[in-house]
Amino acid sequence: MQHFVTFIFCLLWAFSAFAQADTTQRVIYGRKNSHVQEEKPYVIMISADGFRHDYAEKYGAHTLLSLSEQGVQTESMIPSFPSKTFPNHYTLVTGLYPAHHGLVSNNFYDRQRQEFYSIAQRDKVQDGSWYGGVPLWVLAEQQQMLTASYYWVGSEAAIKGIHPTYYYRYSDKIPVDRRIQTVVDWLNLPKDRRPHFISFYFPEVDYAGHRFGPNAKETKDAVLYIDHWTKKLTEAVATTGLPVNFIFVSDHGMTEVDTQNTLTVPVEINPSKFTLVEGDVMVELHAKDKKDIRKMYEELKKKEEGFVTYLKSEVPYHLHYGAKNDSLNRIGDIVLLAKHPKIFNFSGNTPLPGHHGYDPVAVKDMNTVFYAWGPAFRQAQKIASFENIHVYSLVTKLLGLPFSHHIDGTSRLAELILKQEENKLQKQE
Ligand code: AMP
Ligand code: ZN
Ligand code: ZN
Repeated sequence: MQHFVTFIFCLLWAFSAFAQADTTQRVIYGRKNSHVQEEKPYVIMISADGFRHDYAEKYGAHTLLSLSEQGVQTESMIPSFPSKTFPNHYTLVTGLYPAHHGLVSNNFYDRQRQEFYSIAQRDKVQDGSWYGGVPLWVLAEQQQMLTASYYWVGSEAAIKGIHPTYYYRYSDKIPVDRRIQTVVDWLNLPKDRRPHFISFYFPEVDYAGHRFGPNAKETKDAVLYIDHWTKKLTEAVATTGLPVNFIFVSDHGMTEVDTQNTLTVPVEINPSKFTLVEGDVMVELHAKDKKDIRKMYEELKKKEEGFVTYLKSEVPYHLHYGAKNDSLNRIGDIVLLAKHPKIFNFSGNTPLPGHHGYDPVAVKDMNTVFYAWGPAFRQAQKIASFENIHVYSLVTKLLGLPFSHHIDGTSRLAELILKQEENKLQKQE
């Protein structure tokens, strides 16, 4: 009997492990590039999660430094607030601040739906109704240009009813060499079925930064691992002979926090009056009855130590996270923001040493990287820091994808670093 139970247990375990690691490529059949799109250049947008603005120099990431020296480097890229993974990956591909595209944090509460969104829940991550804006792959597919994703936030959901033509469900189990081979296979498809926009994602630097801190040897190793595989990816892509442009970005940086003296919410929160959204750097309270907000705010304000309490209407303008920005009603009525290097701790366990999520203007460690190289980019360009809302227009200009919907970013970055924009300016003079 005992053996039988063990057998069933092993079977269930094997089944659940297999079920979790969904490694199949999803293909939307029947799509083709239009003839006009077939002649366009190619873009591979790589994100290495949690790659802080100074990591490449700090840890000697020679491939990234030398490729971007020939192309474009920036002092830093400024993430949007909150400096978390889902809000920022989705800002990069929509050109909208988080409060405008709707992914206001990795975990948030939607007042109208009376429902939580969480990056840990597959059904939410894959449900397009949570996502606003027009992601780059949706814009491209709407204009009959094919796209592919080897992971990106949002790519697993049908947003406006549209997936990338080729995509995968997120899993960190597929070996990177296999993922690179798939990118090359995509680029070797006949030109009517070949994707022009490809997204690619590395989780390793963020893992190491959280677990060991931004100054640890393990984080250095993770940075060098990404550097190595970026070299392999560019070499493999070069064998196709196609005009491929690379944009290497990240979502946010990483900082060492005070793990000893952590914060708790110093006032008891009655769940029948407030919905609490817990976080390490930010805590949000949604009032069930607006009349309760002022009293709670005043109580918190009296006891604030190590954090700042804001009413939604008074969140600093530069964070674009206030009542005026909250187009989908997903920001808390009261927002508590930990003061760097403090963090909230709800678990009671000692927290990990590395965190992110802070105001990216006040805490430079939140800043991240932007490198670009390839035939479309000007050479040896060094530019000043810019916000990640501007990447959308860069890619749409590079791929020749016009759009008329509102975004927060501008075309200034594209004008600074694309060769075609320089030529246009020269013709006008
Ligand atoms: P955080 O550092 O908490 O902001 O989130 C980083 C985590 O997001 C990574 O460790 C990944 O496990 C996870 N992640 C990244 N992309 C996806 C995705 N497309 N779907 C689900 N989880 C993801
Ligand atoms: Zn991240
Ligand atoms: Zn992280």
